[in-house]
Amino acid sequence: MQSVRGVHINGQWLDGMGSPLSLIDPVSGQPYATVSTADVTMLDDAVRAASAALPGWRSTPAAARGRLLERMARLIEAAGSPLVQLQMQCSGKPQAEAELDVADVVATFDYYATCCMQQALFSQEVQLPDPAFAASVQLLPVGVVGLIVPWNFPMVTSSWKLAPALAAGCTVVLKPSELTPLAEISLLKLLQEAGLPEGVVNLVCGGGETGAALAGHPGIAKLSFTGSNKTGQAVMHSAADRMARVSLELGGKSALVVLDDADLPQAVALAVAGAYFNAGQMCSATSRILVQQSLYPAFLDAMQQAVRAIQVGGPDDASTGMGPLISHAQQQRVVGFIHRGVAEGGRLLCDGRLQAESRPGCFVGPTLFIDLPGDSLLWREEIFGPVACIRSFRDDAEAIRLTNDSDYGLVATVVGSDAARSRQLAEQLDVGMVWLGTPQLIFPQTAWGGFKRSGIGRELGPWGLRSFQEVRHIVCNSAT
Ligand code: NAD
Repeated sequence: MQSVRGVHINGQWLDGMGSPLSLIDPVSGQPYATVSTADVTMLDDAVRAASAALPGWRSTPAAARGRLLERMARLIEAAGSPLVQLQMQCSGKPQAEAELDVADVVATFDYYATCCMQQALFSQEVQLPDPAFAASVQLLPVGVVGLIVPWNFPMVTSSWKLAPALAAGCTVVLKPSELTPLAEISLLKLLQEAGLPEGVVNLVCGGGETGAALAGHPGIAKLSFTGSNKTGQAVMHSAADRMARVSLELGGKSALVVLDDADLPQAVALAVAGAYFNAGQMCSATSRILVQQSLYPAFLDAMQQAVRAIQVGGPDDASTGMGPLISHAQQQRVVGFIHRGVAEGGRLLCDGRLQAESRPGCFVGPTLFIDLPGDSLLWREEIFGPVACIRSFRDDAEAIRLTNDSDYGLVATVVGSDAARSRQLAEQLDVGMVWLGTPQLIFPQTAWGGFKRSGIGRELGPWGLRSFQEVRHIVCNSAT
């Protein structure tokens, strides 16, 4: 079994002082590696190292920071295949999904490298109505930031935070998920190779208690958190005690709306991808599928056929369309939700529990419900597994009402052949991202984040950079 150092402070890889993590292969359910973790003293050291590195990194010209990010993008590209393999090993995801992860990471570092070349993202003149005065604004690094991430797209989520934080001139303490820390460990090694100065990014592997200690650390100026709502609330509470800044990317219960003029095969393909990509372990899963009445019977038939055709298996089998869940705990949680859906009156068209019972590892097959009451837990709460529910609607007004009838507001997909109608509908949805007839494409140029309980703030795009910046205006007499 592999034994890996999971603590990186001031440029050094260290043996941890906390209890080691045991990583489990989701396909076999067997342990394959242990990772050392940081205790509270090491966390203090990590924050101290990031504080000491801050003056040097924030005064490094943005263009030089950008060149480092660009080098990082090239190194990730060059490391391609082993990184893809690593994603497959950590999460059990199929190769095609792992390749998309790595491509996303490259695109993110490239995008923020380009941002670093745009002076206007760091300082600007400000037009005032009185010619006697002049003003300018500086967008400055917020300071030492704590980044806390989950396991579902570990390399991607960490890059969405690391690249803009570094572009802004912040220094970092990163806490990966206890389930997938090898992804961040490999990113850190590449950052070192790219020439990142010591102390600029520090890594503290550990579980929830390490995350809580980081969230409560007085040396952290800003917390950027992705994960569950419950933990997000705890992070926000800790931050409130000392007025630390927070960005929160949390859960979702998103809708995919199929209009009566939709192309049926396209609608089914998008519904399958929206619900079962990454085994449904996506905050953006469109697990509420809304279909207009006249298309409903045909959609149900075609969807059932498509779901039954999904090959469930490990990434070493080229025919695999959907991998396992991340852990036995997640498997049990999702199976519990399916039992609950049946008890709530839902009718199962495809039952993923059979996969959980019939094989080792952390599998649950793709699951499809109909007839779930609108107030049922399964219809309203995030499951974070391969479970989707379908219901019908009469007209566009009802589709909008049902989509918005959620505590969350992360994303939505609308499928229809009338572009103007789809767009009109999209503009009435209370969500941070709408895809009109496209797969769930996420470009680093577009913002990521949601309305309502889906979080606070936005990642990616210039908004992602801004989330790591403070604003300072300077006003003076025009003559000076
Ligand atoms: P989680 O909240 O359990 O854990 C997330 C991270 O927080 C982990 O690193 C964990 O160790 C750490 N943590 C746990 N307890 C903590 C505490 N008290 N204080 C600080 N940190 C703590 O979430 P998870 O199970 O890893 O991930 C699944 C959740 O993440 C889902 O709810 C999903 O919707 C959400 N998610 C959201 C997005 C988004 O962009 N909106 C993206 C991915 C995942």
